Amino acid sequence: MNCRFCKAELNKVFVDLVNAPASNSFLTQEQLDEPETFYPLKIYVCGECKLVQIDEYKKSDDIFDKDYAYFSSFSTSWLEHAKNYVDMMINKLALNTNSIVTEIASNDGYLLQYFKEKNIPCIGVEPTSSTAKVAKEKGINVIEDFFGSKLADTLQKSDLILGNNVLAHVPDINDFVHGLKIALKENGTITMEFPHLLNIIKENQFDTIYHEHFSYLSFYTVKQIFEKQGLKLYDVEKLPTHGGSLRIYATHLENEKKDIFDNVANLLNEEKDFGLFDIEIYNNFQEKANKVKYDLLYFLLQAKKENKKVIAYGAAAKGNTLLNYAGVKNDLIEFVVDKSPYKQGKFLPASHIPILAEDEIKKMKPDYIIILPWNIKGEVMLQLDYAKEWDCKFVVAVPKLAII
Ligand SMILES: [Zn+2]
Repeated sequence: MNCRFCKAELNKVFVDLVNAPASNSFLTQEQLDEPETFYPLKIYVCGECKLVQIDEYKKSDDIFDKDYAYFSSFSTSWLEHAKNYVDMMINKLALNTNSIVTEIASNDGYLLQYFKEKNIPCIGVEPTSSTAKVAKEKGINVIEDFFGSKLADTLQKSDLILGNNVLAHVPDINDFVHGLKIALKENGTITMEFPHLLNIIKENQFDTIYHEHFSYLSFYTVKQIFEKQGLKLYDVEKLPTHGGSLRIYATHLENEKKDIFDNVANLLNEEKDFGLFDIEIYNNFQEKANKVKYDLLYFLLQAKKENKKVIAYGAAAKGNTLLNYAGVKNDLIEFVVDKSPYKQGKFLPASHIPILAEDEIKKMKPDYIIILPWNIKGEVMLQLDYAKEWDCKFVVAVPKLAII
């Protein structure tokens, strides 16, 4: 087994979550009586380039070819994030009606709609047809395909290529970044957002680990990957999204027009000081994940003993990793509520916890609501503020168990 990027032999385990079903494979009532497929969920770190990555297993088709998909537009905070980004980039790059913007993994058009509003020509690349359909209904031009060098050859060159939460999801990261190089105009800019490995380690975010994520990225490693394909990182920003993400800015290595911002050296120094350049920091993550698991179980068992009613909020991939690794089933958490009508009426994989609409909270009046997507806990608590009427408490499990 070799590193996806540098091809060095992979023999160091970062964390072993044993196995899990595809995290977005929500089950119908009928499927509850059928066997479920579990895939190994063991994450390695490359001793050479420090790329944290999933083991190569069977075919990724099973993981991705689901009729279910995540619809970005269901999160109001994410929409706001997208709108702010669009305004900022139009300004920064002086984009106009002659520019071309390409978004990879354009989902339901949650972001490109704002470029369209400003009459800036844009194209989405999105392999999931259910989300692509929604984007097309918004009048957005979508190519239904996976992005890579082969597709890049067929695209018009772009002034801006962006990808939010896609770089960590691609199996062949070298070919993907090579494709970015091909599809970029001479003075163009690439921005990519991904969860920052430094935060994953620092904040025990082991529930960010699921099969759809092939890589867990530090700036240090991403810089190596981009440079190998003739791209340089000229700026970087820290974002609060997904528990702490990076937004990197890249351009052609030979582009002299873009100066490299101090942020680049500063972040590299921060990662070096934290220890991401050395293998030792990667050694104790299993222990951190286990602590989160034990604390959650302790809380749930105690609540059960006291006859408290516990439900969860947010049927997201994160929650599935957490509940599955902790071995929680539908006896300890009665149901999970989710905004998305595509998920309501279905069940979480493995745990078989039913997914219901938010109205059920008012009917049941639970004692505790576990917020599974802890990264948007502020937004969720505001939305469920009415639960305080019956003294309901909010709970998060990551970075450590907290009753709010
Ligand atoms: Zn490597």
